[in-house]
Amino acid sequence: MPFIENNVNGVVFMTAPNITAKHCFTTRYGGVSEGSLASMNLGENRGDKPENVIENYRRIKEATGIDTDRLCFTKQVHGRQVRIVTEDDIHTLMTPVPYEADGLVTNIPGLAILAFVADCVPLLMHDEKNGVIAAVHCGWRSTVADIMAAAVEKMVSLGAEPAEIQAAIGTSIGYCCFEVGPEVPEAVYALLPDDHEGIVRAGEKEGKFYVDLREAIARRLVQLGVPRDHIEISAECTMCSHDKYWSHRVTKGDRGNLAAMIEL
Ligand SMILES: [Zn+2]
Repeated sequence: MPFIENNVNGVVFMTAPNITAKHCFTTRYGGVSEGSLASMNLGENRGDKPENVIENYRRIKEATGIDTDRLCFTKQVHGRQVRIVTEDDIHTLMTPVPYEADGLVTNIPGLAILAFVADCVPLLMHDEKNGVIAAVHCGWRSTVADIMAAAVEKMVSLGAEPAEIQAAIGTSIGYCCFEVGPEVPEAVYALLPDDHEGIVRAGEKEGKFYVDLREAIARRLVQLGVPRDHIEISAECTMCSHDKYWSHRVTKGDRGNLAAMIEL
């Protein structure tokens, strides 16, 4: 089933059809940031005015119902670390985040968690039966380091069952555009030694390849016990749809941040 586009007072955000918890995948639309950050930038370290970032979060709260005043942040470093968060981790906007991780997991209702992206893959997971959620930043380095296993393991430690998990793989750079050197397909083959057919194709230039990172993440989740029909993948690409989404590659880094958020 396709992702759903929502527009609440000009704030445009995507939701996944299989996730029943409050959640969103943000777009560039509906914020107050200006210039190269126009208009919905959720990054605190993109050179934006603090009052703009704070107003953008307020608008997301109003549009989605997610309590952005009780949001947990992480400093993302393209690693494998996933952190279980509690009320002690609630973040005050525009203050430093004291720890590094690329995934957050919680079972506390009313505590929102998020992952920032701008071409990387945002992954939200939800076990409704057991009340556990995850928000994961899956760049290619975290993906091949198997952050998916780390996230599922942390969810299970809070009582989740893989067979109950619903996963939503949001908009990122797609198979159409994710052109990389040989190190990426080699690492994807190592992650999925028996299941990588159809997720790598040759690029136009010698020594370049296209990789379907979202499909790789989905296949790994299946190996971890998440049913394939519990996994939804956005059909959009941040590079192809760079007016709607922040693309690091298109903007050469002069850009805001998208966020994938979820709250029990
Ligand atoms: Zn594309």
